Amino acid sequence: MADNKLYDLLGVSKSASVNEIKKQYRKLAKTYHPDKNQDQNEAEKFKEISYAYEVLSDQKKREIYDRYGLKGLQEGGGSDFGAEDLLSQMFGGGGGGGLFGGLGGFPGFSGMGGRRRQRRGEDTVHPLKVTLEDLYNGKVSKLQLSRNVLCKACNGVGGKPGSRVPCAGCKGQGMKVHLRQLGPGMLQQIQRPCDDCGAQGEVINEKDRCRTCSGKRVTNETKILEVNVDKGMQNEQKITFRGEGDQQPDVETGDVIIILQQKPNDKFQRNGNDLFLPLTISLTEALCGFVYVLKHLDGRNIIIRSKPGEVLIPGSVKGIRGEGMPIYRNPFEKGNLYIKFNIEFPKNHFIDEDKLKEFEKIVPQRNEPMDIDLNDEHTEEVDLHDYDPSNERSNGSAGRGEAYDSDDEDGRGGQGGIKCATH
Ligand SMILES: [Zn+2]
Ligand SMILES: [Zn+2]
Repeated sequence: MADNKLYDLLGVSKSASVNEIKKQYRKLAKTYHPDKNQDQNEAEKFKEISYAYEVLSDQKKREIYDRYGLKGLQEGGGSDFGAEDLLSQMFGGGGGGGLFGGLGGFPGFSGMGGRRRQRRGEDTVHPLKVTLEDLYNGKVSKLQLSRNVLCKACNGVGGKPGSRVPCAGCKGQGMKVHLRQLGPGMLQQIQRPCDDCGAQGEVINEKDRCRTCSGKRVTNETKILEVNVDKGMQNEQKITFRGEGDQQPDVETGDVIIILQQKPNDKFQRNGNDLFLPLTISLTEALCGFVYVLKHLDGRNIIIRSKPGEVLIPGSVKGIRGEGMPIYRNPFEKGNLYIKFNIEFPKNHFIDEDKLKEFEKIVPQRNEPMDIDLNDEHTEEVDLHDYDPSNERSNGSAGRGEAYDSDDEDGRGGQGGIKCATH
């Protein structure tokens, strides 16, 4: 931004020597020095003059100013000589008045009088689907991302250095204020981002625009990230790539955050570092012993064998130490594997009676049947049928319910029959 404001402030030409500048500053300082001046405006003017002198008397700062204008000073190490603070004071409040009113357009001077602090760009979040096998064995996933980067042709300026000028549409504010009449004498102020400049406060004339990015200041780039899925990582675990997010001018680049998403495993469930394996074995296996070959997540075959003579109860859980998940960052240690047994009974409902008699000799003895007199008038034998909830009528139509009611009068409940029999 080629401007002469600082030279004009001191009333010297752009080619003035350091000596000339010094002389002119001393002269002006005498006039505007706050000690001699109570006037607020004059005091402001003194600050501005001092700043102009500070810049123009310093070879380096003057060069920066000549090339990039005030903005260059502000961006290029402004903090080490306090220009930022001074500029904030001078332009804070964003009012149109003052010598620098027409300049505007400093992204940092948002009219709040606040100190410029670099905004941080948004993080880019990507889910990455992994299998439990991946989390067990570890894996490198390549992820292709497309992101915005500052245009390399123009260094993110959008055109030649100094080609950015304040937007006329918003006077460099980046925002446009609209007035809306709500009623008589009532106006509402609405602030909207300026669409002439994309809320940037600055525009570049068409002829000065960078051809590579068409003045957009950024270009799109495809990048491949190598994501290290380490052994023992968890579902939902985040892997952060610092500063790999979208680049934007004047904004600190955000991160790319990969979030692992574990696909369900059809064999195992995971809880922390432990693995759970529901296992259905047959009644025969539960009673007579079983051997099961488990293909583990790393492809090993694990042979699991019941203890000789041990009967497995439905729902019982057995553990195997060190066969769970590797521990994150300590993958030689592993959690445990737990097996929960479900016992499947024979599908055929009838077994040869002679065989069952043999079987009864092995299994624990049954309780002796009750001593019942079937001829007793209070004893009757009933049918046991398969229960089918969809077919069942629930209103006691089997006859028993009605029988209870009528029987109640002579003091006998339905179950009384059996009770009597056991006397
Ligand atoms: Zn604008
Ligand atoms: Zn460019």
